[in-house]
Amino acid sequence: METSRSKELFEQAQSSIPGGVNSPVRAFKSVGGNPLFINKAEGAYMYDEDGNKYVELINSWGPMILGHANPKIEEAVGKAIKNSLSFGAPTSREIEIAELIVSMVPSIEKVRMVNSGTEATMSAIRLARGYTNRNKFIKIEGCYHGHGDSFLIAAGSGAVTMGSPDSPGVTEGTAKDTLLAPYNDLTSIEKLVEANKDDIAAIIVEPVPGNMGCVLPNTGYLEGLRSICDKENIVLIFDEVMTGFRLAKGGAQEHFGVTPDMTTLGKIIGGGMPVGAYGGKKEIMDYVSPQGPVYQAGTLSGNPISMAAGLTMLTELNENPAIYDQLTQIGAKIRKGFEENLEKLGLNYTINSLGSMISMFFTDVKVENFEDAKKSDTAKFGTYFHKMLERGVYLPPSQFESLFLSTALTQEDIDHIITSHYEVLKEMHS
Ligand code: PMP
Repeated sequence: METSRSKELFEQAQSSIPGGVNSPVRAFKSVGGNPLFINKAEGAYMYDEDGNKYVELINSWGPMILGHANPKIEEAVGKAIKNSLSFGAPTSREIEIAELIVSMVPSIEKVRMVNSGTEATMSAIRLARGYTNRNKFIKIEGCYHGHGDSFLIAAGSGAVTMGSPDSPGVTEGTAKDTLLAPYNDLTSIEKLVEANKDDIAAIIVEPVPGNMGCVLPNTGYLEGLRSICDKENIVLIFDEVMTGFRLAKGGAQEHFGVTPDMTTLGKIIGGGMPVGAYGGKKEIMDYVSPQGPVYQAGTLSGNPISMAAGLTMLTELNENPAIYDQLTQIGAKIRKGFEENLEKLGLNYTINSLGSMISMFFTDVKVENFEDAKKSDTAKFGTYFHKMLERGVYLPPSQFESLFLSTALTQEDIDHIITSHYEVLKEMHS
């Protein structure tokens, strides 16, 4: 595979962009080798600067549920652009999208738009603290909630693959207010709550973590969090930046039937444009400025182009429930294919999946939390990643990420992914 143009660009990028990239995981550090510079994408395919074509399973880390360059979204953006790119003033489209989100996501009665998932989670924690007048919050090890200072403690995603879970620049004062518990472990949450009586504002969790690879909640875990929060007046926040509008119209909270007090959402709302949002119970959301005392703002929040893309995306998802059946079927086919491959090859790697999120861990232990996930052989993952890439299958470049499937994948693509998976693992284990 010829990738000389990408190599040249990466070299050139080093002198003007730190590490040559604008977000760390893109640099391929954890899998080694040279990142690919992307030129365009359409449907299920992405093309790099050397003209190579890939079936891609990242989908901009989630938002391209309908595949790339969706004609309806592009048309909406094209129309909106003609009326200027930004006003910094309210628009009717913001009400439309807010009403749609409120109707789709069970926990959301009011919603505030921001520009990224990071902004959404930072704002949600500030609001939970302001609302409860408490300082600390509980974060789950291996969950990633963006790069806000207080979340960069035992964080997943790029923070773990870069080997800097506790980033320099995060002060001890900040870190001490973030309490940590392993995923799927209610006892440790109870202990933290007991030891910090009346000082815990919130528990924030990815209901189905995608940032330590895909991990599922054990039966009763999310319900357990709900009842602890009810008992102790703690704000339960589901970070559904990845799972929102993906696992179901109403996200993981709809799928599992557990309703948090607040929800953070991200990129999916923008259909690929930079967007985030946080929402929840009216009485909590009314604590946000200008109605309430907790300050949060944004010049480009509710940007008309992002809202046009998002409104079209969410309308599609809302009006076509068959999309979710399709995503689930695609996910199930890939999972089944992977499992059959492992069986044929006598391998025992762990696969976790739900709907259109799926991870294969290079370990034979059951993966139920971050500690389990870290038992994976990341060197093997790196080899697997590159060999899949050579066959034209572009996976997320880290063991600690989930695949994100789109409805654009055809049966032919699925067959190609499964065959490549078989060939690669066979090559690696012969
Ligand atoms: N929360 C979760 C669950 C995420 O997966 C991410 C990023 N993938 C974020 C928050 C941060 O979002 P952003 O990168 O848009 O700031």
